[in-house]
Amino acid sequence: MKTLVIFVSIALIGFFLMATHSDKGIEEHKHRENVMTTQSQPDPDKKYPYQKTEAEWKEILTAKEFKILRGKGTEAPWFNEYNDNKEEGIYVCAGCGQKLYSSEHKYNSRSGWPSFWKPIADSLVAEEVDKSYFMTRTEIVCSNCGGHLGHVFDDGPEPTGLRYCMNSAAMDFIPKDEIASKEQ
Ligand SMILES: [Zn+2]
Repeated sequence: MKTLVIFVSIALIGFFLMATHSDKGIEEHKHRENVMTTQSQPDPDKKYPYQKTEAEWKEILTAKEFKILRGKGTEAPWFNEYNDNKEEGIYVCAGCGQKLYSSEHKYNSRSGWPSFWKPIADSLVAEEVDKSYFMTRTEIVCSNCGGHLGHVFDDGPEPTGLRYCMNSAAMDFIPKDEIASKEQ
């Protein structure tokens, strides 16, 4: 009888230990599932519809375009392609081709970078807060691919009072006659 009691006790302890262990196993499994769920949630960097991997961007952009558009770089003032461009036409994103600015809204800001007092439409560009270099500035990105274009300042001409200070290398220029022939 005593042997039986001891045997049952051991069996119960064994069962209890197994049960505890397997519960722990389930918890660990649940925890792993949680981690996986967290990882598959939308990436905050993917708020722009036109997406490419870093390797794909490197393939389609020049080193300079990549540094500015994807690395938030700034080109040298004055010695850039469109600062002095007075031709009529439109400026599109060098990353995805989205229309951004028109020569109609370009003006000489004397900053050394192509400057516009408005984009073709507000929805074509998006604003981000840029806290680099111990300053708080408003960064302007392409609303389609999120590529860095430049910054906006409030010292522009009327009627908006805004200065969209852009990097030439972040844009491609399409002369007016080429736009007309493309649309025909
Ligand atoms: Zn773009």
